[in-house]
Amino acid sequence: MSTHDLPEDLSPATRVVALGRPPRDPGAPVNPSIELTSTYAADGAVGYARAGNPTWLAFEEALGSLEGGDALVFSSGMAAVTAALSLAPHGTPIVASKTAYNGTVARLLDAKADGSHEVRWVDLTDTDAVIAALPGAALVWLESPSNPLLEVADLPALAAAARAHGVISVCDNTFATPLGQRPLEFGVGVVVHSVTKYLSGHSDLILGATVTAATDAGRALRDRLAHQRLLGGAIAGPVETWLALRGLRTLAIRLERASANAAELASRLDGHSAVARLRYPGFGAMVSIEVAGDADAAERVTGAVRLWSHSTSLGGVESQIERRRRHELEPETTPDNLLRLSVGIEDVDDLWRDLDRALGQA
Ligand SMILES: *Cc1c(COP(=O)(O)O)cnc(C)c1O
Repeated sequence: MSTHDLPEDLSPATRVVALGRPPRDPGAPVNPSIELTSTYAADGAVGYARAGNPTWLAFEEALGSLEGGDALVFSSGMAAVTAALSLAPHGTPIVASKTAYNGTVARLLDAKADGSHEVRWVDLTDTDAVIAALPGAALVWLESPSNPLLEVADLPALAAAARAHGVISVCDNTFATPLGQRPLEFGVGVVVHSVTKYLSGHSDLILGATVTAATDAGRALRDRLAHQRLLGGAIAGPVETWLALRGLRTLAIRLERASANAAELASRLDGHSAVARLRYPGFGAMVSIEVAGDADAAERVTGAVRLWSHSTSLGGVESQIERRRRHELEPETTPDNLLRLSVGIEDVDDLWRDLDRALGQA
């Protein structure tokens, strides 16, 4: 890739466009190619495509630059979560929040049940309680803002405390994206992403990633994660990776519009007669509401929308709505009547009219 000849100090909105492109040789393509091969002629840098693929490198260069570290792409967000959790040696304690992404919580419950790890459950918004749980732990799992409660943790304080106790900190940065916050700058050890969501942004693929600092300690973590990817085998397809890079090109402009829409909808939802509680962290494009009424009332809303997509997942250009407790894996910390709204880039008045009418059915 060609970062070396780009000007320094480019803003993130420029970097998503400029990075991960081939060298500018005369006649060269402006986009990376989709490298469809399982193996390579002997004696090159990579011998077999489970160990590396040039299309991965293009995406990893762009994401790594945004987060300020070295990225590795995985086959899904959960593959990246699993690789990051594998950094805690068997038998060691892990500190985590019960209000993290439901797949992560389920994975930790499995690890506890089969005796692989002791799990110390904490409230991530209670900084002192998290710090008190750190001594002797191998890893602390941070997710902020959290899915779907949109709780915000004090990442700088928690990252510093984890470092002081020799605990590896991992931050799932899926909701904020590197345009919202860069956890490596706070001293977090590993950033995890579901690339499926905002980074790719079009609800058309499943991918994940880890990012680690470009320091000796960060590179040591990167090597362990790369080893886990090589032997765990949860590798990204080149086609999905290429599509993710194409989606990433518009991240800044998509987030700008979606975040503005979310702020506007949050202000209109505040005090709405059908909304018992509004959850909006003040940035980003995710909003959760607790409907005035029970789970059935919330289901009537998802059944009544016509423009919003009633579907799981988030971070796409299209607005989505879902009652999270419909999923068996969703922790009981998520209220039964909570609707998670992933606000897209449509016209905000069109979104409001559809949502307001659907809320009238609650
Ligand atoms: C979706 C999601 C994941 C899991 O990612 P997949 O790409 O679905 O495997 C992990 N963390 C968060 C916060 C998510 O929203």
